[in-house]
Amino acid sequence: MTQKIINTDDLAFLLYELLDVERFTQLSRYSDHSRDTFDAAIELALKVGVEAFAPHNHLCDEDEPRFENGKVVIRPEVGEALAVLRETGLMAAAQDYELGGMQLPSVIAQTCIGLIKGANVSTQAYAGLTIAACNLIMAKGSDEQKRRYAEPMMAGRFFGTMCLTEPHAGSSLGDIKSRAVPQADGSYRISGNKIFISAGDHELSENIIHLVLAKLPDAPPGAKGISLFIVPRFLVNDDGSLGERNDVSLAGLIHKMGYRGTTSTMLNFGEKGGAVGYLVGEPHNGLAGMFHMMNEARIGVGLGSAMLGYTGYLHALEYARERHQGRPQKERDPETPMIPLIEHADIRRMLLAQKAFAEGGLALCLYAATLSDEKKHAEDPLVREESGGLLDLLIPIVKSWPSQFCLEANSLAIQVHGGYGYTREYPVEQFYRDNRLNPIHEGTHGIQGQDLLGRKVSMQDGRFFQLLLERIQATVQECAGVAELQASTQLLTDAVNQLTQITEALQLVRREDPDRALANAYLYMECFGHVVVGWIWLRQAQAALRGLQQGGDRQRGFYQGKLHACEYFLRYELPKPLALTEVLRSADRTTLDMPDECF
Ligand SMILES: Cc1cc2nc3c(=O)[nH]c(=O)nc-3n(C[C@H](O)[C@H](O)[C@H](O)COP(=O)(O)OP(=O)(O)OC[C@H]3O[C@@H](n4cnc5c(N)ncnc54)[C@H](O)[C@@H]3O)c2cc1C
Repeated sequence: MTQKIINTDDLAFLLYELLDVERFTQLSRYSDHSRDTFDAAIELALKVGVEAFAPHNHLCDEDEPRFENGKVVIRPEVGEALAVLRETGLMAAAQDYELGGMQLPSVIAQTCIGLIKGANVSTQAYAGLTIAACNLIMAKGSDEQKRRYAEPMMAGRFFGTMCLTEPHAGSSLGDIKSRAVPQADGSYRISGNKIFISAGDHELSENIIHLVLAKLPDAPPGAKGISLFIVPRFLVNDDGSLGERNDVSLAGLIHKMGYRGTTSTMLNFGEKGGAVGYLVGEPHNGLAGMFHMMNEARIGVGLGSAMLGYTGYLHALEYARERHQGRPQKERDPETPMIPLIEHADIRRMLLAQKAFAEGGLALCLYAATLSDEKKHAEDPLVREESGGLLDLLIPIVKSWPSQFCLEANSLAIQVHGGYGYTREYPVEQFYRDNRLNPIHEGTHGIQGQDLLGRKVSMQDGRFFQLLLERIQATVQECAGVAELQASTQLLTDAVNQLTQITEALQLVRREDPDRALANAYLYMECFGHVVVGWIWLRQAQAALRGLQQGGDRQRGFYQGKLHACEYFLRYELPKPLALTEVLRSADRTTLDMPDECF
């Protein structure tokens, strides 16, 4: 374990024994790579995380960015850490060699960034947003835009933002009011107010490239009228040098409960006549462009959440081994020494839950990243299509399940610490506050539930939902005759049957009465997520059993821990949301029927 960010044995188990990511070296895109190059990148990321990011995680929480003398002032350690990250080249880990990238599979690039998130999620956010904005320009921008804006972002010279939210339009993006007026020279003048823009103003990079959603004068109403624009803080000349300051100003900083090291800004565009902007992709197609990148971004949110849950778990584990309180129930002699917390059953329950949530959440996100790799680069077109469909289906789960349950893991980490966990002298309370953002941004929990039940499950007549069920069924069949996995396999089989019945019932209601069908979408997403993570836990147990039987690379205790955690998750956690099966199957109306005036 390194600085309590990750158990490196577990990471290697997940990547190589569970997900077999070495198989990607067979693809032509990754043929120069090997397990050694993957490990070298991961080791480098961990070293950067431990040495450059983790040491100031708490300092930036205590000493938030300030606005002084017309500038945003941020602790110097943030810039220093980002400079180290820039020098490693990890910001372009997944990009092509010709663009100066490392051409690593997405699963390895996400792992590297995940380790940095585990070390310091706020400082990482500047880099994470830049990578996301750069990927969007690479996917949807013109060659000229790639050269002028994306390449300096890959090199870490320019940073990026995503400017979607407006004060009156958060979840309801179709209602944004920002305007873009075409100019004779092909550029646009952008005006409007954006709120909650992370990394929206700072002096950490030469330039900030804002990706802004706005509407053209002839835009159709709603989400189909949104276009996407590049709006640089400083205009960029043809030779790449910086020109005039653009008409983008900081209206104020927002003060948050967590993620405090990342500046959160209110930005005004066009106070002096219009900020210069450049259209990315087709007019009125901006949201589709943005959503193109959402899968990666949402894997990133889930991964950040899982890593915060993970580091919280490792801190709680160490504390539970070191702190002594009380005696065994059967010990009556007060003269005997107190025992470590970890010997109390209730503490073991909380540690097991954290292990199940954090390791399950991390496995889920890494699995999703492998789907993303297969979708883009698998040689067989059917694999590309199926992996893409499965990824689309699972994205609301990948984003939301860790955001809910790894946050719960952070709460349990506080509980294991008792009163000390509630103080700022121990880091677990910060992990909780930082993680509390994840169910809110990148589409709230409520919106993700609606996306899953209202759209994803029925995509292509439910083809990918069926495919998921087939994949789960295949694991169940492989495990059916294995004595050590029998109980877990049965529990998963029952849960899958319940999920199938609920899904069929709700799809019928949805055709007649979508409001009623979607009223419990949040609960449906919990059941769905638990079944998926239950499946991933069973696959981990399968891999662990193989490791035990074939003398795998790790200690017996490690593999046995995986078997125990699988059983814990399937016995204790999986049944919890499914206990409300009847509420879902009957499309219960209790929440809808409560009249407003009765609240
Ligand atoms: C720290 C932080 C960083 C952020 N960073 C960025 C950023 O970099 N760029 C950016 O553009 N935005 C950013 N955001 C904004 C974020 O994406 C929004 O806060 C989020 O989308 C929710 O919008 P809202 O806050 O307006 O809440 P609202 O949309 O008002 O939602 C309030 C509640 O109502 C529910 N709700 C809303 N609509 C529906 C519906 N149709 N059905 C059911 N329930 C509904 C929501 O689920 C939520 O629980 C950030 C936010 C925070 C807090």
